[in-house]
Amino acid sequence: MSDCIFCKIINKEIPSQIVYEDDEIIAFKDVNPQSPVHILVIPKEHIESLNDINSNHSDLIGNIFITIKNIAEELGIDEEGYRVVNNCGEFGGQTVSHIHFHILGGRKFSWPPG
Ligand code: 5GP
Ligand code: ZN
Repeated sequence: MSDCIFCKIINKEIPSQIVYEDDEIIAFKDVNPQSPVHILVIPKEHIESLNDINSNHSDLIGNIFITIKNIAEELGIDEEGYRVVNNCGEFGGQTVSHIHFHILGGRKFSWPPG
């Protein structure tokens, strides 16, 4: 997707602070962090949102969550805990139409969300 900002990050057309990368996944620091640790984990395949996931993506989604756990360990937030968020669609608050999972850590979060 030539006009997708996250595809441009994947293709290194715009800079980002990458914390993890493999053949199918990339993770980078959010440009507008909402907590001391704020990482975005995304597939390299352009999938618009959670609504577009199907059974062909089972391994990919599993690998994304294993990657999330590994990043949390590497950044030292696993013991104190952290939050993983996917915003889907307008009511979910999704602003970038390339599926992404937020890792938020380094402070305590409230529940339920606003
Ligand atoms: P959403 O609201 O769609 O769940 O989250 C999109 C996230 O992408 C936001 O937290 C926003 O700060 C982040 N973001 C938007 N544009 C860029 C960018 O160009 N670089 C980085 N690193 N993060 C971005
Ligand atoms: Zn994209």
